[in-house]
Amino acid sequence: DGIVVAIDGPSGSGKSTISRRVAAHFGLGYLDTGAMYRAAAWWCIRAGVDLDDHSTVAQLVREMPLEISTDSAHPTFIVGGEDVGVVIRSTEISTRVSAVATNLDVRAELQRRQRDVIAAESGQAKTGHQAHSGGRGVIAEGRDITTVVAPDADVRILLLADEEARLARRAREVHGTVDEVSLAATRDQVIRRDADDSTVSNFTTAADGVISVDTSALTLEEAVATVQEIVSA
Ligand code: C5P
Repeated sequence: DGIVVAIDGPSGSGKSTISRRVAAHFGLGYLDTGAMYRAAAWWCIRAGVDLDDHSTVAQLVREMPLEISTDSAHPTFIVGGEDVGVVIRSTEISTRVSAVATNLDVRAELQRRQRDVIAAESGQAKTGHQAHSGGRGVIAEGRDITTVVAPDADVRILLLADEEARLARRAREVHGTVDEVSLAATRDQVIRRDADDSTVSNFTTAADGVISVDTSALTLEEAVATVQEIVSA
């Protein structure tokens, strides 16, 4: 069966970029679970529901027709035929996604779908689930993959970075530059969002058996190389 690699970390830890690069290097599937929560938030906002209405939100998410491509060269998220890859990165979604992601019934539904994708990608799918990849293996990244979604993964890594490094990365990503204005705009989102998210997931301390990697002082290339070594070992 294919290898399963679980990677968690806070926002700005570099986990999406690093995971995607490492998946491409090893020819593994790549699952961005944050994009699933973002797609769920987008779906609920578009339906015009109050995000604090837990049961309505959970029901909508259970009905969300989400198709995922785990191709690391071109990961896609299609909701009801619409490619939402770009729109789910908007500031509105980033600001409101935690309201949906802290809904425990939403989490149960998306965690179930994530386990299905991981099983299909790693060749462990029960009959009825279609393997997209012939069981080549997969890297799944998020906030609760090492602990809840795939605690039995072959490799489990927690990517960490100090606040300054995480803010600078997000500011560069979102605003294209790191200055006082972009840092201030990023601060509320990164810090507040992580605080909200950490009420339902532990991604600040490594669980038993999880290898933590502090990327604060590493370049992207160094961080990718470090994770590749851990996966190879
Ligand atoms: O990783 P990203 O910043 O795109 O994640 C968006 C949001 O999805 C997070 O802020 C969090 O609310 C939620 N999330 C989660 N569990 C995961 C992945 C993401 O709750 N495994």
